[in-house]
Amino acid sequence: MKLRILLINPWIYDFAAYNLWSRPLGLFKIAEYLSAYDVELKLIDCTDSFDSERYGSGKFRNEAVEKPDLLLDIPRLYKRYGISTDDFINRVRQAMPFDMVLMTSIMSYWYPGVQKAIEIVRDMAGDVPVILGGIYVSLYHEHASKFSGADFIYKGQVGESLNFALYTFGFKIKKKREPLAYYKLGLYDKYSFAPLLTAYGCPFKCSYCASRLLTDNYQRRTPENVLNEIKGLYNTGVKDFAFYDDALLVDSESHIKQILRDTVNKKFDIRFHTPNGLHARLIDNELVGLMRKSGFKTIRLSLETVNTERQNTTGGKVNNEDLIRAVKYLKQKDFAKEEIGVYLMYGLPGQELEEVKKGIEFLKNLGVRINLTEFSPVKGTEAWEELVRKGMINDDLDPLLTNNTVFPYLYSGYDTEELKKIRLDVKEYNDH
Ligand code: SF4
Repeated sequence: MKLRILLINPWIYDFAAYNLWSRPLGLFKIAEYLSAYDVELKLIDCTDSFDSERYGSGKFRNEAVEKPDLLLDIPRLYKRYGISTDDFINRVRQAMPFDMVLMTSIMSYWYPGVQKAIEIVRDMAGDVPVILGGIYVSLYHEHASKFSGADFIYKGQVGESLNFALYTFGFKIKKKREPLAYYKLGLYDKYSFAPLLTAYGCPFKCSYCASRLLTDNYQRRTPENVLNEIKGLYNTGVKDFAFYDDALLVDSESHIKQILRDTVNKKFDIRFHTPNGLHARLIDNELVGLMRKSGFKTIRLSLETVNTERQNTTGGKVNNEDLIRAVKYLKQKDFAKEEIGVYLMYGLPGQELEEVKKGIEFLKNLGVRINLTEFSPVKGTEAWEELVRKGMINDDLDPLLTNNTVFPYLYSGYDTEELKKIRLDVKEYNDH
């Protein structure tokens, strides 16, 4: 008999969440891998409930939940984002019987969503083995082993080690065919948008970033392979594509430019979005022309800070001149302020609010949207080690306290009223 596997993407537990074209791509890739074997697959995506607003992005359905003790001091509502627990229970019931659960995890501080989903599955399906993978377990293996409730913690990318994990529970699966693209497996209802990953990892090494901890080798797919995926998804009705790459523009001539030229030649009626910041240094005039022709609508660039010393000490991926030049090219091709957003971080170790204000003025002068983001430390990065060395955090800090809403509030030492004013000022500027 075929092995029956239930794939689960658990809820988001947070103070804020917005769906910027995200789907559980890691879980989809597992489905794709397993489709070559003699298995039966079902999928429950707990985040599959949101209003489609701008180009398919939108607010998740949400409900307030009790705060964990560690977060009691945070003056915000804590919420579960996604489908209701009743809906989840119904979906699990419909998926029964199954022999095994493969669950993913994303942000480490969303682990209460993992715990809740496993708790319900345990109540309904008893001792069915649960294998847990994803970002949280890759960064917090020990924490996940102790507290998630899963039977097996799966670290790293999907591959033959997944067969081994299944084997430890007595399941031996046989390869039967070539893998099928995830969107051909009938696992979910149609969507009008899709995330894309044209490469895994990043060749840069920024002191605050988890990219290298999650993928040690930077690997790119071929442009043909990416184009086939775009074409396949387009044929299912997808119109909005969001690149989730960490370093989309590296070697642009043989990679992204090729992909964009091909989509232009095929005359696809699509739009592109880059919710992850692009490298301003790698933007040139030709690339911007292709971005314009191929339908880019949401462009995000990374600056993080205007302070040149901090730019250098955190990795040197961009400087102010790179950004000025990139914005000039974008504006020459008529990209508007609403379409160009620049990420600016606050709460970096040792960063004063004055530095953030200077960054805001710099971006206002460039006439781009400002995307303020809160620094949150990732275990294992240089920035984390620095905070531990300075005695600001303990190495065993609970992942809940690394939440980007929580960390600056508790650890940055900022005047909260002043920070509020800054945020309001940026909102007013962005809205006009
Ligand atoms: S360039 Fe971006 S993805 Fe790459 S290491 Fe730096 S922050 Fe991370």
